[in-house]
Amino acid sequence: MRWALGVDLGGTAIKAALVSQEGDREEVMEVPTQAWMGRDHVLEKRLLPLIERALQRARSRGMKVEAVGVAVASPLDPWKGVVYHPPNLPGWGVFPLLPYLEERLYLPVKIDNDANLFALGEWKWGAGQGHAPLLCLTLGTGIGGGIVYHRGIIWHGAHGAGGEFGHVTIDMEGPPCNCGNRGCLEAMASATALERWVKESQERGRTTKIPPGAKAIDIARAAREGDEVALEAFQWVGKNLGVGIAALANAFDPRVIVLGGGLSKAGMLLLEPAVSEFERRALSLQRERVKVRLAHLGHLGGVIGAALLALGEGLENHDKVREEEG
Ligand SMILES: [Zn+2]
Repeated sequence: MRWALGVDLGGTAIKAALVSQEGDREEVMEVPTQAWMGRDHVLEKRLLPLIERALQRARSRGMKVEAVGVAVASPLDPWKGVVYHPPNLPGWGVFPLLPYLEERLYLPVKIDNDANLFALGEWKWGAGQGHAPLLCLTLGTGIGGGIVYHRGIIWHGAHGAGGEFGHVTIDMEGPPCNCGNRGCLEAMASATALERWVKESQERGRTTKIPPGAKAIDIARAAREGDEVALEAFQWVGKNLGVGIAALANAFDPRVIVLGGGLSKAGMLLLEPAVSEFERRALSLQRERVKVRLAHLGHLGGVIGAALLALGEGLENHDKVREEEG
């Protein structure tokens, strides 16, 4: 049996699991990132010890790990393995993570963006199940995106940064986004956007059972209990999401669009208004054929995708691309 170690390096937590080529998962581990402590701390005190511990467990159980894959919440060059100013990992700057890990692990290492690897995981063993092209949106504090085209190859674009669906403009005059633009999908359909919409309604004096400072999970609970403001908030975010996925469906003509990330746990509260807006706006062929589904792999999607990358999926032609493009 072939095994790889999949690691998901996020701003809040680092997750790891041993994953087999058959999709078995063992030794799932999670530690807080402690990102505020800076790059050296995260690398030396959090990431490397977690990887060592997982590899140690594998050795003690007689499992031979052939490679390590790391999903990073950052713009990056997957070929050179360099991350560029990860927004949730302060002080990292431009950092050659892949060479750093290869030097220390004595194992082949591959890295890619976390949303790309989430898409890869969903394509292989999740809501996509081998259907490509597949688009994936991870709906959380921000919105990440990934594209898997034929046979599980991730679409990286020319500079490694393709699939940033969170920064597609859906309203020219919309609210400001962290990227400096305004009206981005991320500013209008993320958990943060939902929370801000509720906060503004409360400030305008709307009556609601939602407590002040509520998170998306609290708003979802209130919506299920029939709270008007919470229901309207999900209608607004879902509709915005539908505008975005209709644009993506028209542009890419994928087989499947997968919605993952923490906010997707709201399920039908989000999916129902999103799909109805998608159906209103997509071209007829896409409206009839493109399937919009909730992700299956949950919070381990990035870890599983990272392990798949290590096992040879996703970047199949990566040495060739490096050679051709320089
Ligand atoms: Zn933006």
